[in-house]
Amino acid sequence: SSPKITRLKPAYGPAAGIAKLNANENPYGPSEAALAAIQEASASGAYYVNESARALQAMIAERHGVDPEYVALSSGSSGALVACAVSAGQSGNILGPDLFWDTTSKSVEKQGIAEITRLPKTPGLEIDLQTMYESIDDSIAMVQVVNPNNPTGLLMDPVALRAFCKKASAKATVLVDEAYNELTDMPQENTMVPLVKEGYDVIVARTFSKIYGLAGMRVGYIIAAPEKIEAMSRYGIGWYGLNQAGLAAAVASYEDQVFMDASRAKIREGREMVYAALKENGLSGLPSQTNFIFVDLGSINAQTFREEMAKENVLIRGIYRDYTNWSRVSMGRLEHVQMYVDALPKVLSRLS
Ligand code: PLP
Repeated sequence: SSPKITRLKPAYGPAAGIAKLNANENPYGPSEAALAAIQEASASGAYYVNESARALQAMIAERHGVDPEYVALSSGSSGALVACAVSAGQSGNILGPDLFWDTTSKSVEKQGIAEITRLPKTPGLEIDLQTMYESIDDSIAMVQVVNPNNPTGLLMDPVALRAFCKKASAKATVLVDEAYNELTDMPQENTMVPLVKEGYDVIVARTFSKIYGLAGMRVGYIIAAPEKIEAMSRYGIGWYGLNQAGLAAAVASYEDQVFMDASRAKIREGREMVYAALKENGLSGLPSQTNFIFVDLGSINAQTFREEMAKENVLIRGIYRDYTNWSRVSMGRLEHVQMYVDALPKVLSRLS
């Protein structure tokens, strides 16, 4: 007998009245310019990407002052991040902090080829670079840091991180995931891209999913030595994961300072609203340099909190690992952040 399948009406975003604050998207995107470019490029959707990918690769290379061979585009940065993990996993484990965006690196565990080795927890949830350095033994093929980190939102001191990357990369490849770099107050100072140019064994990952507001268009990239990229090509790095509409959106957004500044301003405003609401309700969050805040719920369970917030049409994240009383909320449109602010006292009173 044939399986019973329910036909679904495709929904490309959250329904009206839902505050979707659970995936660190920038709902102010795609920009006007990106939307126009998507429409134009889609008309050529019959053709595989080639020149369009080269055009984006060249723009990125120019911005970072590297040859285009240092730039590998992928379907979201996830495409390249999986390749980094699986490639490293052939020769050893991946070392990371206790809490980081480990979704792509978990693929080595799913494939049964390597493990993620985690550092002990730290009281402030920051990454202890000294312990990390000391933990790089022969079993480690790659060290992964996310800066600013997800889900904590914490930014590392760039001077300390740079010194760490230089030392650590003599022992293992260092992957720095800079998905949220453009959201920090000083993106140029915070990036580790110059180390790639200086010849250190460092890979930097970036994405169009965050500040550029193109999460659903799936474009990201890594910057790494050409031989590193070449070695990863067998693990899925390549243009076949890209599409004309996404590339067009990325090209149209990459130099759109007006859109980026406007997005950053809204995100900052959202953060201020959330911090104020937390304070008013006797809670606090970690200092964020991103479009999300990691909230200390005190004695409240983050999964219960998530379920109660959902009843108020506010979607947020639940428990990460064993951080049972920490809750991540993303900055969406300000009217949606306001829904979080309004729901907070109601939910807290129900749970107290
Ligand atoms: N890196 C970090 C730190 C993230 O938080 C995310 C998504 O949330 C990604 C990478 C992957 O995003 P994408 O594949 O859309 O570039």
